[in-house]
Amino acid sequence: MPHDCGNLSKKPVIMTDKRKNTFSAKVRRTLTSVLPVSKRRKGQCINCGACCKLPNVCPFLRQKPDGKFHCLIYAIRPLNCRKYPRSEAEFVTEDTCGYRFE
Ligand code: SF4
Repeated sequence: MPHDCGNLSKKPVIMTDKRKNTFSAKVRRTLTSVLPVSKRRKGQCINCGACCKLPNVCPFLRQKPDGKFHCLIYAIRPLNCRKYPRSEAEFVTEDTCGYRFE
């Protein structure tokens, strides 16, 4: 079941693969964010905001009137935010993300 991309509530986002949307998965993504982004990654961020809700809604996430999301600390956002989705194995938001792996 796809998650509600427009949901800014504090409820966890419902993902197709719930095993990847856990706090431990986030810790793992944080640790591996020092590694390079996969060359197989294509596409671009379309500001759906889904990765900013893993596993809970980030306090710096805001929604614009046009429905797109933006980050209040974009210029200084953490490495794991900058590189998401870094690899296919860590990709959680296939349902709405503008990136894909080929
Ligand atoms: S899930 Fe993908 S498209 Fe959505 S905000 Fe994150 S990187 Fe951008």
